[in-house]
Amino acid sequence: MTDLGLASGRGIEGRVTDNAPLAPLVWFKSGGAAQCLFEPKDVADLSAFLAALDPSIPVLPLGLGSNLIVRDGGVPGVVIRLGKPFAKVETLDATTLRCGGGASGILVSSSARDAGIGGVEFLRSIPGTVGGFVRMNGGAYGRETKDVLVECEIVLRSGERQTLAVEALGYTYRHSTLPAGAVVVSATFRGHPEDPAVIQAEMDRIAAEREASQPLRSKTGGSTFKNPPGHKAWALIDAAGCRGLRRGDAQVSEKHCNFLLNLGAATSADIEALGEDVIARVKAQSGVTLEWEIQRVGEES
Ligand SMILES: Cc1cc2nc3c(=O)[nH]c(=O)nc-3n(C[C@H](O)[C@H](O)[C@H](O)COP(=O)(O)OP(=O)(O)OC[C@H]3O[C@@H](n4cnc5c(N)ncnc54)[C@H](O)[C@@H]3O)c2cc1C
Repeated sequence: MTDLGLASGRGIEGRVTDNAPLAPLVWFKSGGAAQCLFEPKDVADLSAFLAALDPSIPVLPLGLGSNLIVRDGGVPGVVIRLGKPFAKVETLDATTLRCGGGASGILVSSSARDAGIGGVEFLRSIPGTVGGFVRMNGGAYGRETKDVLVECEIVLRSGERQTLAVEALGYTYRHSTLPAGAVVVSATFRGHPEDPAVIQAEMDRIAAEREASQPLRSKTGGSTFKNPPGHKAWALIDAAGCRGLRRGDAQVSEKHCNFLLNLGAATSADIEALGEDVIARVKAQSGVTLEWEIQRVGEES
């Protein structure tokens, strides 16, 4: 892909990298490069960058890439990654936290524990960032982001800053109506007062349950398909005989068959084709059409 030529002379303080490999930045460890990667210094820097950017250039926010297949031909336009400046968590009062868009689920839940705020323990188990949780309505153990989110601050593709209340995000299962290209720079979560020891015990329980049921130290994207109404995706995949199914170095996990794995040298094309194969086999066996939960971005090579 050609350079966008954004790397110099724009008065921008964050880091701009042309043709930046994305595979090291995503859980699957596969896929091509970003035409341009921008890591803003702060919210004002991000806002100025987007306001000055040709509106025809697409923008993709990236968290920890725990729910992404980046296609092998790479991502055209600008990928925006929120680094350390956006990874802070601050206690506002006895039940409320303001979290940077780049803060991890572990940081949010452990900060809440230290502040004696219960209700966000479930974020302990989701290996993404606050921005990804808000976009995806990330959830686990019967709770979803929408249950704890009060509001979020976003920077629109135009560079305009806005605060959106939870009601404005059109939440459904693993879905929001956040505008395309909008970057979540912070979110306010509300829980309830709780004894830190009780919170820690719940976090430990969740961590142990995860360890037992999911391939956590693998190159994966978490749950591949949404649970269709009235069904568990993993059970449909298992019944269709897909547990352990392989395509090149891509495999349906033996441990949790709604997870796809990169065993080492899988391309994103291998992983995506394996997912499409699973969809076809499940459809043939059960009549149910699985829908991707993992976001697939970029161009095929
Ligand atoms: C081992 C494992 C277990 C998992 N378990 C769960 C689970 O229990 N529940 C669950 O819901 N998910 C789970 N996931 C999936 C994933 O962690 C979540 O979807 C998470 O919300 C993604 O966060 P992220 O920051 O890594 O986003 P990414 O994967 O980087 O991006 C996902 C989407 O969010 C957007 N996005 C990211 N950051 C921002 C931002 N700052 N502003 C706007 N948009 C943004 C991206 O553009 C993309 O559309 C799991 C994944 C793995 C690998």
